[in-house]
Amino acid sequence: MVVFSGGQDSTTCLFWALEHFTEVVAVTFDYNQRHAIEIDCAKAITADLQIEHHILDMTLLNQLAPNALTRSNIDVKNGEDGALPSTFVPGRNLVFLSFAGILAYQIGARHIITGVCETDFSGYPDCRDQFIKSLNVTLNLSMERPFVIHTPLMWLNKAETWAMADDFGKLDYVRNKTLTCYNGVIADGCGECPACELRMQGLTQYLQVKMS
Ligand SMILES: [Zn+2]
Repeated sequence: MVVFSGGQDSTTCLFWALEHFTEVVAVTFDYNQRHAIEIDCAKAITADLQIEHHILDMTLLNQLAPNALTRSNIDVKNGEDGALPSTFVPGRNLVFLSFAGILAYQIGARHIITGVCETDFSGYPDCRDQFIKSLNVTLNLSMERPFVIHTPLMWLNKAETWAMADDFGKLDYVRNKTLTCYNGVIADGCGECPACELRMQGLTQYLQVKMS
C-alpha cells in the first residue's frame, strides 16, 4: 500500500512499489488541500496505472492545524532561523500513517510505502527515519500484524529521486503528470514557490549529471 499524494515523491514510490510487489494499492488523504487538483491528480495517475485507489476523508486535520497547506489565506513560506515552514501540520504523518496502517490491516496488506525523506528542506519531525521506525513498531504492536514500512526515498535528495524515476523509465511520466507546486500548477509548476524551486533544482542537477 502506497501512501499517495499525486506528487513527485509518492509517484516515484508508486513505481518503486510496482517494481517490488505484484499487487499495489494506493491511499490518498483528503484534508481539504489548498488545491483540490491534488486529489484529481492522484485519481488520474492511479486510474492511468490501473491501481486500486482509496481516498480517506481527513478533513478533521483542518480543525486541529490551520496552516498554509489548507488555508489559502496563509502564505507558503520556508521557516527562517531553523523554524518549521508554514506548511507544517503537527503530527500529520503520524495521523496519515496510522490510518494507512488501519486500512492496510483491513485489506490484508503487509507492506506500507511512504515517500517521506530526511534530506529535503523541511525538517518535519514525523518524516524522520527514527520516527518511522518507532511508528512501525507501534503499528505492529497495536494491531498484532507484521507490517513493514518502506521509505525508498528516505536518504535521497531531489536529484536522486529523479534518478530513481529515470531508472524505472518513468522520468517523463513523473515530470509531466505529478503535482508538487504549492500554487496548484501541475508538471513543472509555477516556478516560484519553494516546492517548485526544490523540484526544478533537483531535476536540473540530475539532468546535468546524466548529460555529462
Ligand atoms: Zn509552484
